[in-house]
Amino acid sequence: MRIVVLAGGIGGARFLRGLKAAAPEAEITVVGNTGDDIHLFGLKVCPDLDTVMYTLGGGIHEEQGWGRAEETFAVKEELAAYGVGPEWFGLGDRDFATHIVRTQMIGAGYPLSAVTEALCARWQPGVRLIPMSDDRVETHVLVELDGERKAVHFQEYWVRLRASVPAHAVVPVGAEGAKPAPGVLEAIGEADVILFPPSNPVVSIGTILAVPGIREAIADAGVPVVGLSPIVGDAPVRGMADKVLAAVGVESTAAAVATHYGSGLLDGWLVDTVDAAAAPEVEAAGIRCRAVPLLMESVEATAQMAREALALAEEVRA
Ligand code: GDP
Ligand code: CA
Repeated sequence: MRIVVLAGGIGGARFLRGLKAAAPEAEITVVGNTGDDIHLFGLKVCPDLDTVMYTLGGGIHEEQGWGRAEETFAVKEELAAYGVGPEWFGLGDRDFATHIVRTQMIGAGYPLSAVTEALCARWQPGVRLIPMSDDRVETHVLVELDGERKAVHFQEYWVRLRASVPAHAVVPVGAEGAKPAPGVLEAIGEADVILFPPSNPVVSIGTILAVPGIREAIADAGVPVVGLSPIVGDAPVRGMADKVLAAVGVESTAAAVATHYGSGLLDGWLVDTVDAAAAPEVEAAGIRCRAVPLLMESVEATAQMAREALALAEEVRA
């Protein structure tokens, strides 16, 4: 079975760990979000690609959900001693090495997709990880700061401002001119099932879908497309999905996220058991819906979520 998954960072990565356990024989291609990418200290940092790579490769800081396990921060402290920031973005020493290798390869002319493949040769994530695009796409958030509207980089909104200021719009800058990375459309075209993990619908999956060609390829693939809600009990399980959903005019409910994707894209949608009452609304929108436990509390619980998603895909296919 060939499965394509569109993934952000933590939500996508944790789901993928469960999916690998649930379908060990499957050939899994992950299309990763690069809208969160940022240049820091002259280095190209790809937080979502790295979260997937480290999580599946066994290098992730488990409790934190991002960054490396057993990390130290000597480089960051030395940079701070020189007065060189930003100090609000936590890059550890081990993580720095990844960004140095990536930046060096990009400087040598390799596209991000080739660099990601090279980094994965070390981590062996057990999936094929492809960035959504080799072209630069940067998510900006239009915020209200000191009484003025201002566009800031997504990382500045999320990490520096902690999503504490009102967000009015989310713009994937550069997306309209970006091309899907080599292999993305091919993988979608050859997939048996396409899954949307419980990743952020706006700044993770929404950004991937904003790359021209990707949304169309998924809609035209003619195979089941099934998603899992990142919203449980009318709130994100973690993160700021509620704030960025509000910025694009979508309520923070499991049903609203499903209808935001729409039946043109989604065939099936899993909501948590606490949101079982939302199922009729989702079904009325033409999307088959089931309520199952959706908390990724362990690999086994997450594997069960993946099995439910694959079962719903089979139901849709039949
Ligand atoms: P990010 O790039 O690190 O923000 O990660 P993603 O975009 O992949 O995923 C973030 C989303 O995952 C958030 O909207 C969370 O609500 C969702 N999430 C995190 N943990 C869980 C969980 O255990 N269950 C569900 N259903 N969603 C989760
Ligand atoms: Ca992210």
